[in-house]
Amino acid sequence: MKTACINAMAVRGLLLHAATRIEAAEAELNGFDSAIGDGDHGITMRLGFQAMRRRLSELPEGMAIGQVLREAGKAFMGSTGGAIGVLLGRALINAGAAIPEAQDVGPDELKKVFGAMERAVAETGKAKPGDKTMLDPLHAINEVLSGSDGDVCELLSIAAQVAQTAARGTANMVCRLGRASRLGDRVLGHPDPGAMSFALIVAAFAEQARSLSQSTQVAHI
Ligand code: ADP
Ligand code: MG
Repeated sequence: MKTACINAMAVRGLLLHAATRIEAAEAELNGFDSAIGDGDHGITMRLGFQAMRRRLSELPEGMAIGQVLREAGKAFMGSTGGAIGVLLGRALINAGAAIPEAQDVGPDELKKVFGAMERAVAETGKAKPGDKTMLDPLHAINEVLSGSDGDVCELLSIAAQVAQTAARGTANMVCRLGRASRLGDRVLGHPDPGAMSFALIVAAFAEQARSLSQSTQVAHI
């Protein structure tokens, strides 16, 4: 079977495409948060990804993937308030730490990255699957990827679909954590904003990986 790997420059491309998709979704993400939170999720995500975009443009070209992910996470965390700044920032930092020697992201590295992200979010936020948070799409991705084969583009495409379904599924959950826990059943029918933004990030990764798979930045070996 052919195996596609994503190199360090392509990883930057994935993060930059996620930034573009998040920036474009600012109003929609604020809307999700207005329904069950304080309405700032789109703003917070945009600020974080803009800071990440600036940091990525400053990094030396030959930087290893693990270090790129770490710098992206630090930039995100340093620029945003709110729960998501720490959660997604730490998730990216730990994702980088999970593949310190990697020259490319293939299927094994991708699974390590998502695994490390889930552990980081669970440890930092103390959430469990089913608590109506960004952990829900992450957990669903890892459940499915642990039993999936394929190249990195195919796995990202599976992850994007699973994350979207899980994020939408949070509409059927009540919140046990954070400010929305006070709303009880009133959150039913509304998806969790952090789950929706995380699904959008993974969708952007999958889109970018698909378009890169036509180019030299994804090696077919
Ligand atoms: P804030 O809640 O501080 O306004 P945001 O609106 O930017 O921050 O982000 C809210 C999102 O953060 C939620 O939708 C949820 O997905 C995620 N989140 C918040 N608290 C936790 C937690 N303890 N564990 C996991 N995810 C959390
Ligand atoms: Mg908020």
